[in-house]
Amino acid sequence: MSDDDPDNRIERVIIIGSGPAGYTAGLYAARALLEPLMFAGYMSGGQLMLTSDVENYPGYPQGIGGPEMMMELREQAERFGLRVEDKNVERIDTTERPFKVYVEGEEFRADALIICTGAEAIWLDAENEEAQKGRGISTCATCDGAFFRDHEIMVVGGGDSAMEEATFLTRFATKVTIVHRREVFRASKVMLERAKQHPKIEIKTFRSVKAWLSDDSGLTGAILEDPRDSSTEELAITGAFIAIGHKPITAFLDGQIETDQEGYILHKEFTMTSVEGVFAAGDVVDTRYRQAVTAAGQGCQAAMDAERWLEDLGL
Ligand SMILES: Cc1cc2nc3c(=O)[nH]c(=O)nc-3n(C[C@H](O)[C@H](O)[C@H](O)COP(=O)(O)OP(=O)(O)OC[C@H]3O[C@@H](n4cnc5c(N)ncnc54)[C@H](O)[C@@H]3O)c2cc1C
Repeated sequence: MSDDDPDNRIERVIIIGSGPAGYTAGLYAARALLEPLMFAGYMSGGQLMLTSDVENYPGYPQGIGGPEMMMELREQAERFGLRVEDKNVERIDTTERPFKVYVEGEEFRADALIICTGAEAIWLDAENEEAQKGRGISTCATCDGAFFRDHEIMVVGGGDSAMEEATFLTRFATKVTIVHRREVFRASKVMLERAKQHPKIEIKTFRSVKAWLSDDSGLTGAILEDPRDSSTEELAITGAFIAIGHKPITAFLDGQIETDQEGYILHKEFTMTSVEGVFAAGDVVDTRYRQAVTAAGQGCQAAMDAERWLEDLGL
C-alpha cells in the first residue's frame, strides 16, 4: 500500500480469484512482502469446493476433501499476510496505471493484477443433473476416473477431450459408451479412430441425455433421446463424464486483455498478459491440463513475475 488514506490507497498487487492459482499467488506475493489483496469471488475456494476427494495433490498421502484443502491453502497464505475479501469483481479498468478494480460499488487501485478466475466446465442441464453432480457425474476424468474402477461408464461429447477421456477411462471401467448428439465428430481422425478401435468402447451417435436416473446408491443410468424422432432408450451406467467443453471466466475483462477465441487469457511474456502489469494463472489460461497442481504452479509463477516486474519499475 502506498498511502494510509484508504481513498488514496494503491495496492501493489490485487489477486482476483481464490482457487489453487489465486491462493498460491497470494502465498508467494505475501511472502515477498507485497501485502496482496485478494477478491475471492462468487465461489470462494474455487472449483475444488465442489469435490469430496482430492487424491492427486502432492503432500496428502491419504487424499483430502476439496473444501478442506482449500481452507488450508487460504490459512497458509493468510498466515503471511494475504488479505482476502469474499467479494466478486464486477469489472476492471486497465487503460492506465494504477489499474482500477470495481467491487460491489467500490473502486480499488493496484499497480499489478493477477487474474486467477478459472474456467467452468459446461454441463448438460439434463433432468436430475444438479442432484447427481459429484455423485456419479463428473467433468474431469483425470480427477475422478480412479473412483470408477469396474463400473460401466458413459462419456458425453464428440471432441478430442471426449475421445481422450473415454480412452483414459477404459483403464478403470469395464465398458465405456460414448454418447454424441450428431453423426459428425469434432474430434481429430486419429483420436476418433483410437476410440472406435478400443474393445471396451462403444459409440452411440444421434443421442443426447434427457435425464439422469439414480437411487440411494448413486447414479444408475441415463435416458437418451434421439433428436431426429424424439425416441428414447435407457442406458444402465453407474458413472458419467461430461466432456463438452469449458468456459473460461473472462467476460468481466470486457475485452481489455487479449484472449483466444474461446476466451482463455493469452500469456505474452511468461505469465504476463497483453497488458503490462496484468498477470494471469491457472485454468483461466490453461486449455490443456486444468489440474489443481498446475494451477498452483502457475500461481507461483505469476506472483514471482509480478514481484520482479514491480521491482524493475521501482514500485
Ligand atoms: C468436480 C471437480 C473435481 C475436481 N477434482 C480435481 C482433482 O481431484 N485434482 C485436481 O488436480 N483437480 C481437480 N479438479 C480441477 C481443479 O479444480 C482445477 O484445475 C483448479 O481448481 C483450477 O484452479 P484455479 O485457481 O485456476 O481456478 P478455480 O479453482 O476455478 O477458481 C477460480 C476462482 O475465481 C473466482 N472468480 C471468478 N470470477 C471472479 C470475479 N469476477 N471476481 C472475483 N473472483 C472471481 C472464483 O470465485 C474462484 O474462487 C476438479 C474440478 C472439478 C470441477
